Amino acid sequence: MSQPDIVITAPLPPFLRDPLAADYRCHDYHAAADKPGLLAAEGARIRGLVQGGGTATPTALLDALPKLEIISVFGVGYDGVPVDYCRSRGIKVSNTPDVLTDDVADVAVGLIMMTGRGFVRLNRFVRAGEWERRGPELTTRLAGKRVGILGLGRIGKAIATRVRALGMEVAYTGRNRQDVAYRFVPDLVSLAAESDFLVVASPGGDATRNMVDAGVLAALGSKGTLINIARGSIVDEVALVAALQKGTINGAGLDVFADEPHIPAAMLTMDNVVLLPHVGSATRETRQAMGDLCKANLDAWFTKGHVLTLIPELA
Ligand code: NAP
Repeated sequence: MSQPDIVITAPLPPFLRDPLAADYRCHDYHAAADKPGLLAAEGARIRGLVQGGGTATPTALLDALPKLEIISVFGVGYDGVPVDYCRSRGIKVSNTPDVLTDDVADVAVGLIMMTGRGFVRLNRFVRAGEWERRGPELTTRLAGKRVGILGLGRIGKAIATRVRALGMEVAYTGRNRQDVAYRFVPDLVSLAAESDFLVVASPGGDATRNMVDAGVLAALGSKGTLINIARGSIVDEVALVAALQKGTINGAGLDVFADEPHIPAAMLTMDNVVLLPHVGSATRETRQAMGDLCKANLDAWFTKGHVLTLIPELA
């Protein structure tokens, strides 16, 4: 059988790109200097598309791929995929859930520790030679503090398990109450009001855009720290910068931003903010597992006619 043609719309690591190149006729749309030319020449043959979790896929691109059968996302978040459009054309969409859950939860806990215990600031303090002159600041005990989780899914639950092991209390919100040992708080403002750490772990996309707004931040208040390991789009970043500048909230630990890799300049100089470059799943082991699953979804579709991890909206 001839190799299916696929288009790649994001930069991929070699451990995914090379196995794909061995089994598929790959067209690198991301790197192509003449993108319209590539679509004109190859678009009619393309049957698969590989993109990153943060890649936005416009419907105009998909219009140029009339034989497209599957989008395989290298990531669990698929807020960049026009799901309704894909449903209307019968295009399958797969992602890489579960294999990255532990790593992303670790980052959330790391951000809680780095903000609460001031580890990043204290590291700067030592490196600047300040310890020679004075003692370190006192920080915040984590045990007994309240963690509010927006989105108690796979990652949210892994965060809950970890912070419970630290002796922290857990409550959550989402669209549904779940059969779990943690307390459900139906609305986000109330959850923020009772949280010392508000952790964002829900999907991005239109349904959650700017859900953490000025009102939620006001409810979180000066006792509270915002942790976001999910998507920058979920937090109103302008409101967040204002809340940090005014001391409306205590601080923030952020792995994701609205316009990555661009970060509001004001945040770069704030001492009460810890910033990471979207590294939730960025370990060698997990990225390999994500790459394997991303390709396995394509392979399963083109050899057996089903995908392994179809997104729930299309199941
Ligand atoms: P998941 O298992 O699908 O969990 C998502 C949770 O969010 C569910 O508990 C869901 O509960 C809740 N939710 C969904 N829509 C919501 C809405 N409109 N309002 C409030 N809550 C909502 O997903 P996951 O595997 O845990 O991943 C979560 C997100 O983490 C991904 O979508 C991705 O964007 C992000 N992520 C980030 C990184 C990183 O590198 N920083 C890495 C991986 C994933 P209900 O259905 O009850 O609402």
